[in-house]
Amino acid sequence: MSTLRFKALETVLGRTSVKVNPPSFKVSDYYNSRVFNDAAMKNFLDKEAYEAVIQAIKHGEKIDRKVANQVAAGMKSWAMSYNVTHYTHWFQPLTGSTAEKHDAFFEPTEDGRSIEKFAGSALVQQEPDASSFPHGGLRNTFEARGYTAWDPSSPAFIMEGLNGNTLCIPTIFVSYTGEALDYKAPLLKALHAVEHAVVEVCSSYFDKQVTKAMASLGIEQEYFLVDEAMVNARPDLMLTGRTLLGHAPEKGQQLEDHYFGSIPPRVHDFMVDLEIECYKLGIPLKTRHNEVAPSQYECAPNFEEVNLAIDHNQLLMDLMEKVAQRHGFKVLLHEKPFAGVNGSGKHNNWSLITDTGVNLLSPGKTPHTNLQFLTFFINVIKAVHDHADLLRASIATPSNDHRLGANEAPPAIMSVFIGTQLTSVLDDLVSAKPKGAVKTSSKTSIDVKKIPEILLDNTDRNRTSPFAFTGNKFEFRAVGSSANCANAMIVLNTIMAQQLKKFKAEADAMIKKGKKKEDAILEILKSYYKASKNILFEGNGYSEEWVKEAKKRGLSNIKTTPEALNAYITPQSKALFSKNDVFDERELDARYEIMQEDYVKKIDIEAKVLAQLAISHVIPAALTYQQKLSDNVASLKSIGLSRTSYEAQLKFIEEISKYVKHIRENVEKLIAENNKAHHIENTHKRALSYCHKVKPLFEEIRKSSDALEFIIEDELWKLPKYRELLFVK
Ligand code: ADP
Ligand code: MG
Repeated sequence: MSTLRFKALETVLGRTSVKVNPPSFKVSDYYNSRVFNDAAMKNFLDKEAYEAVIQAIKHGEKIDRKVANQVAAGMKSWAMSYNVTHYTHWFQPLTGSTAEKHDAFFEPTEDGRSIEKFAGSALVQQEPDASSFPHGGLRNTFEARGYTAWDPSSPAFIMEGLNGNTLCIPTIFVSYTGEALDYKAPLLKALHAVEHAVVEVCSSYFDKQVTKAMASLGIEQEYFLVDEAMVNARPDLMLTGRTLLGHAPEKGQQLEDHYFGSIPPRVHDFMVDLEIECYKLGIPLKTRHNEVAPSQYECAPNFEEVNLAIDHNQLLMDLMEKVAQRHGFKVLLHEKPFAGVNGSGKHNNWSLITDTGVNLLSPGKTPHTNLQFLTFFINVIKAVHDHADLLRASIATPSNDHRLGANEAPPAIMSVFIGTQLTSVLDDLVSAKPKGAVKTSSKTSIDVKKIPEILLDNTDRNRTSPFAFTGNKFEFRAVGSSANCANAMIVLNTIMAQQLKKFKAEADAMIKKGKKKEDAILEILKSYYKASKNILFEGNGYSEEWVKEAKKRGLSNIKTTPEALNAYITPQSKALFSKNDVFDERELDARYEIMQEDYVKKIDIEAKVLAQLAISHVIPAALTYQQKLSDNVASLKSIGLSRTSYEAQLKFIEEISKYVKHIRENVEKLIAENNKAHHIENTHKRALSYCHKVKPLFEEIRKSSDALEFIIEDELWKLPKYRELLFVK
C-alpha cells in the first residue's frame, strides 16, 4: 500500500517545467493593460466624466449620479473590450482575505431579449448579503445590512480566468449605520489625517508650495513555495498553513546556501508567470530572490501610495495562490510554516512625500531642507516611542506570534534603529558640547546653520530591528507575511498624524510668543529626541541582552496576541483614533472583539488538527513499528537466542511505549483544556485561555511525535518529512 507521502514524492519527481507565454517580452507593451487607469479613462470617458473622476481621486470630491452613470458606461465598454462578462465590488472584510460577489452585465429585457447593463448606481454602491462577515457586534441581526462603496482612488481592474473575465471595483465595506467593517475604510481615514497634518507642517514652516502629500509604501513579501502534492499529504499544512509536527531535517539553513542562491527552474517559472499577471494589473513587481530558509523566496514591488500598495499586495497574495496552482505549487504565506528555520515577514517600507516631489524622510542638502528632514524624522521616532504598544498590537496575529522573537525575526519589543551616523547627529544636536557631527557656525543662539549636511551611509543596516531607518524611509519589519498591511498602516499613519499635530501646536505657540521659527522647531525637536531616546536601539535585537536591557528601559515585550491587542482599547488609543477620525469607540471595541475571536478560532482549529494527526497518524505508525519489533523479538527468542541479541529492540519497544503514552496523555489534556477554554464567556479571557492553557500542549505533543518520527522505520511514516517538504522540487 502506497501512502499519500510516497505518492506525493513520486508526483514531485515527475514534474516538469510549465511553459509560460508572456504577451510580449517588453513589459511596457502590456503593463497596466487590465487596469482602468488614466489612459483607459481618457479613451472611454467623455471630458466631464474624466474630470470628475480625477477630482474624486485627487481631492475626494463626490461624484453625482449623472456622472456615475457616464463612468459606469465607459468602464463597461472598456471591460467588454477585454471579454468581461461580470463585475464585482472587490473589498477587504476583516476575515483577512478579499471578498467578491459577481454580477453579470447582461440583463433580460421585457421583449425576451437581453442587454448588457452597468448602471452608475451599481458602480457606486452595492449591498452584498454580508451577514456572515465578522462585525464584532456592530450589526444586529435585524439590521444586518452592509454596504460596499466605490473607492475611486484605487483603479478598477480585470481579473482574468481561463473561462471568463471579471471587472473588479475596489470598494470600502461599511455597516448600515456607517461603521467600518473592513480594512480599507479606516485606512483611507488614517491616510487623510496624516496627509493633512503633513501639509500643515510643510506649508507653515518649510514650503508654501506644498498643497498635498502622500504616504508611500513598498511591501517586501516573503513566502514559502512547496509542492502541492506534498501539502495535500500534510493535513496540518492544508488546514492551518503550518506544520504542527515534524522532526528537524539534518540540513536546515545552517549552511546559508539558499539566500540569493540560484532560483530552482520550476520556481523560476512560477515567478515569471506571477510577474506577468502582476504587470497586467499594474503591480510594479521589481525584485525576486531566494530567501534565507530552504524553499523560501521574496518578491518586492516599487513603492506606491499606501492605499494602492495595500490593494496591490492583497491582489498579489491572491495571484500567488492562483498562479502557484498552475505550477503544481502551494504558496505558504504563514509567518512560521516550519519550526527551526526562518519565518516570513512583510517589510513595510514607508515614507511621506509632498506634491512638490520631496521625500520628507530623505536627508536634504541644505540646512533648511535638513531641518525639514529632522522635523519629520524625529517626529516619527517620537510617535513610535509614545505609541509602541499600539504598533505592537497592529501586527498581532496568532501566526505572527510564532515569528516575533523566534529564530531570525524581530522581537516583540518595539525599538527603532537609526544607524550610528544619525545617532551622533542627534546626540550632537542636544549636547552642550557638540563633537562636530553637527557643525556650528555661530557660537551663540541656536541657529539653523547648526543643521549639518547629512550624507548617509546606506550600508548601515540592522536586520534585527523591527523598525529601522534605511536611508530615505522607515522599514517596519515586524509585519507578518500573511497580514493585510492596513492594520500596521492605520496605526502608523494615525500616530504620525497625531504627533505632527502636537508638534505644530507647540511650535505655533512658541512662535506666537516671539520665538524665531527655526529656534522654536529645534527646541521642540531636541526635547522630543530626549524624551524618546530610550526607544532607539542599535545593537542585536535578537539577543538575550537586549531583552534584559529593554526591560531596564521600561519598554514592553508583549509576546502574545491576546495581550498585545489590549493596546487598541485603552482610553488613550480610543481618544487618539477618535480625535483623528479613524475609529470611534464602538468600531474599536468591535475590532478588538473580532481579533480576539479570530485568535480563539485559529488556535482551536490547530488543536483539533493536531489531536487528529496524533491519534490517527502518529500513534498508529508507532504501534505498527512496535509490533514489528516485538514480532522480531519473539522470533529471536523462539530460535533460542539470548537476551543480548534482542536487547536493542526491547529498548526501542519501551521508548515507543513511553512516547505513545506521553502523546496520548497530552492529547487528552489538550481536548479537556480546549473544551474548558471554549466555554469561557468573555472573549479576551477565552483567548487568554487558548493562549496559555491550550497552546503549550502543542509543544508537548510535538516533542514526542518528533522523537517517534526519528526512530520509526521510514516506510511507515505517512506524513511528508521536513527534508521532503523543504528540499524536493
Ligand atoms: P532595501 O532598502 O530593503 O535593501 P530597496 O531599496 O530595494 O531594498 O527597497 C525596498 C522597498 O522599499 C521597495 O519596495 C522600494 O520601492 C521601497 N522604497 C524605496 N523608497 C521608498 C520610499 N520613499 N517610500 C516607501 N518605500 C520606498
Ligand atoms: Mg528591505
